[in-house]
Amino acid sequence: MVRYYLYQIEQTKHLNAFLEVFEEEALLKAHALDTRIKNGEPVGALAGIVIGIKDVICYKGHKVSAASRILEGFTSLYSATAVERLLAEDAIIIGNLNCDEFAMGSTNENSAYGPVLNALDNTRVPGGSSGGSAVAVQADLCMVSLGSDTGGSVRQPADFCGIVGLKPTYGRISRYGLIAYASSFDQIGIFGRNIADVARVLQVIAGPDGYDSTASKEEVPDYQTLHNKSWKIAYLKDALFHPGLDEEMKKGYISFFEELESAGDSVTAADFAYLDYVVPAYYVLTTAEASSNLSRFDGVKYGHRTSLKNLELADFYKKSRSEGFGKEVKRRILLGTFVLSAGYYDAYFTKAQQVRRLVVDKLSEILSQYDAIIMPTVPSTAFKIGEKADDPIAMYLADIYTVLANLAGVPAISVPLQRHSNGMPYGVQIITKQFSEANLLSIAEHVMQLRRVTPV
Ligand code: GLN
Repeated sequence: MVRYYLYQIEQTKHLNAFLEVFEEEALLKAHALDTRIKNGEPVGALAGIVIGIKDVICYKGHKVSAASRILEGFTSLYSATAVERLLAEDAIIIGNLNCDEFAMGSTNENSAYGPVLNALDNTRVPGGSSGGSAVAVQADLCMVSLGSDTGGSVRQPADFCGIVGLKPTYGRISRYGLIAYASSFDQIGIFGRNIADVARVLQVIAGPDGYDSTASKEEVPDYQTLHNKSWKIAYLKDALFHPGLDEEMKKGYISFFEELESAGDSVTAADFAYLDYVVPAYYVLTTAEASSNLSRFDGVKYGHRTSLKNLELADFYKKSRSEGFGKEVKRRILLGTFVLSAGYYDAYFTKAQQVRRLVVDKLSEILSQYDAIIMPTVPSTAFKIGEKADDPIAMYLADIYTVLANLAGVPAISVPLQRHSNGMPYGVQIITKQFSEANLLSIAEHVMQLRRVTPV
């Protein structure tokens, strides 16, 4: 299997999905595993699973750069808890995957290592920031991959690529060893071609961790036994009738809701008046957290250091950071520093925290009445490369449906729904209450069965 994926990776180099392939190591591990199986020795729950990881997840002894020049050549000193758990169950990690710099972006165009191409249409983006992770599964370059989802970076590229992307509850998977973007939003997520693969990996990597105090102590239930029943589903009118949503997709969702009803589920409209505030609140809070998190990259402790000599200390920092960070990361550090500055703190940061509270309360009210909320994942299909590159506001606004789950810390999944007349796939997003991944995965399987969707 490793040989098959290595061949596939070789054939699709132009997609630019992998930053590094751990060829020799993966083959050695596969041989060792084969020997153990031949000898009748026990093997782990993920034996035979070949996984790629996003370049923001640390794997001891392997390079990790967050697709940024500032971390060029940096080698992980320890492994993320998620990685440790994968390895302990005999998964084979085949390489690390391209992404937007520090996971900031929606197209993978912000990588210092160049864009990733959507395998279905090479003139289009795969989405971001976990674009490499999505394409690796889409183009069959590995079986499952890990990404990170701060505001949609697993669900949105899954939608653009026609595959499954899960963002678990905040704190379900340890963030230890995940390079921080916005710590109160970040969560490791899983890409797969079907629900069973995603559930199997979640089962292994979820759970408490002494190295991350925000990792929940909540017991890890059985995610692999899926439930079959009639579900009580809500859709958000404000999301379905939002002017930004593609007309054809809107019709597609409406007829899908009718199908759910014919299948015995109830589908009811719910009000969510805050939808237009979620993107501004998200970008104020995440840039604030990013400006703080990224202050550690100072040219002294990590990564890139300017080669200019005899600089004053402040100039040394400025120069190293100016050379190391890309444009979008700089924009966000500036914005985040601004919203945290003494004169503007209350007007922006405090206000956004208040909006977050309203969103959390309203969402949990809805989720206490229904099993799930179903809504679009993204308002359009995959953008053309360069289409939104010069318009950051338009790019940010396209995150309208995904940031909700991160603001509220609830689990959400995108599953492929159908093809648009432009030939590209689009998905549907399912959101359930905190720590109800078992239900989330069951509903996702139900949707996939109903539509008999085969991933791309
Ligand atoms: N597109 C969003 C952003 O740029 C989401 C990123 C993410 O989830 N890492 O912030």
